[in-house]
This record gives sequence, structure tokens and C-alpha cells, in this order.
Amino acid sequence: MITDDEDEEREESSCPFCGSTGDCPHLLLLVDKTFQEVSGGVLFDAFNARLSSDDISFDELLDEVDSLADAYDRYNFEDGPGSSSTYEVYYVSSAARAKKAKSVFAAGSKRP
Ligand SMILES: [Zn+2]
Repeated sequence: MITDDEDEEREESSCPFCGSTGDCPHLLLLVDKTFQEVSGGVLFDAFNARLSSDDISFDELLDEVDSLADAYDRYNFEDGPGSSSTYEVYYVSSAARAKKAKSVFAAGSKRP
């Protein structure tokens, strides 16, 4: 895991592998921690599917995403006075690893 200890205010995250601030092949999951919602990423569909069908909490699913990720970042998005959200972003180092992570994560819903 690569952690970013910079304590500056930022309103977006840039990918540690390609520098993109938008969607890129390394973006595993973008999470709005304030509202407990996923906002994008490779695991977006699988995350929502498991959240609605499994007996598992949002935070437990995030732990699984964390274990699959190669890098992690967080930032605050100010959406007007007194209104801000904390976002967490999980990245993997390659598109191939993103594909693998997606299949591993999706398979987690099939319990014996
Ligand atoms: Zn990238």
C-alpha cells in the first residue's frame, strides 16, 4: 500500500500510476465516505450488487476492496459552505490487476 501523508486540502485525487484525475484503468473504487456511497471505479457495479444482496456491511466490503488495492488516497470535496464530503480512492497498478481484483471481489459473494 502506498499512503499519502500530505495534509493539504485537495478536491480531487490523481492516480499514482498515470497521474489522471478522472477515470483511468487503475481506478478500483471511488467512495463517498460521508454518504456511504460508491461513486465510480472498476468495482462500482460489483460493490453495489454485493451490498444489496449479501449480508455484509459497507465497511466490511471496503475492507475487502482495501485488501485488493495497491494504493489508497483520500481527500475532502467542499460542496459549498458547511457542506463537504470525504472521499476515499482505491487504485491498482495495472489494468490487468484491476480485472483480477474485479473477479476476486465478485466471487466473494458466492459463499459456500
Ligand atoms: Zn491511472
